[in-house]
Amino acid sequence: MSGAPSSTRRRGASPAVRVPVDSTGYIADTISFSIVDGPGNRFVVFLQGCNFDCAACHNPQTIPGYGRVDCHHPEHRTVHDLLAEIRRAAPFISGVTVSGGEATQQPNFLHDLFVAIKGDDDLARLSCMVDSNGACELEVWDRLAPLMDGAMVDLKHLDDDAHRAMTGQSNRQVLASIEHLQHLGQLYEVRLLLVVGVNDDPEVVRGTGEYLASVDPGMRVKLIAFRRHGARDHDPPLIEPTPDQLESAADILRALAPFDLTLI
Ligand code: SF4
Repeated sequence: MSGAPSSTRRRGASPAVRVPVDSTGYIADTISFSIVDGPGNRFVVFLQGCNFDCAACHNPQTIPGYGRVDCHHPEHRTVHDLLAEIRRAAPFISGVTVSGGEATQQPNFLHDLFVAIKGDDDLARLSCMVDSNGACELEVWDRLAPLMDGAMVDLKHLDDDAHRAMTGQSNRQVLASIEHLQHLGQLYEVRLLLVVGVNDDPEVVRGTGEYLASVDPGMRVKLIAFRRHGARDHDPPLIEPTPDQLESAADILRALAPFDLTLI
């Protein structure tokens, strides 16, 4: 815990507006500049701990919660600490993305960080975004909505049984989050990680596309090819799609709706 003040007052704001700079999060890492975590160049905060256990996870070291990590060294850090880092990067970034792990597992810290950014005259121009697996109570989004500029949500599988096999959890809250964020005008992007033999079957892709089109036929969709690098060993091994397989899935989505589609 730093020796930060318990709160600061926003310059020029009402005396009643207090910024919770002593709020503490459990942080796996930060990156000062990223162009793959939302629009523009972004400062990214990776929170430690995830409520999923995805077979295809590329950051498995961020899954364990507090006190269960032995392979790296997450830290408890305050909003005040992060604001100092963000302030150094601010001239070169367009926003801040909070990722994980699962960002919404620490909703109070997420909320307080965004309050602090939006309440700081020098940082308020930065967009605040969340990169999420979508598995949280809808009240979390309601609380964040006045502060954030959008959320990127992963949809691992439309079928609930297959989703449980991929992640260990139901997709019920994920689908509810996608629909609720769209309703709030806060759904920036849905991300589909394509794994051969898991969710690349044309009928699965078509069903997923039809669902997404029913939410918003013009939504931003990012189709991501699974890569073994960084993922845990799996038995049987998870299979990377070829460029042609990725393109085939994209063609199915394109035929369904005018999605704003990106392939990576
Ligand atoms: S939701 Fe993301 S961080 Fe959590 S286990 Fe799955 S891939 Fe990893």
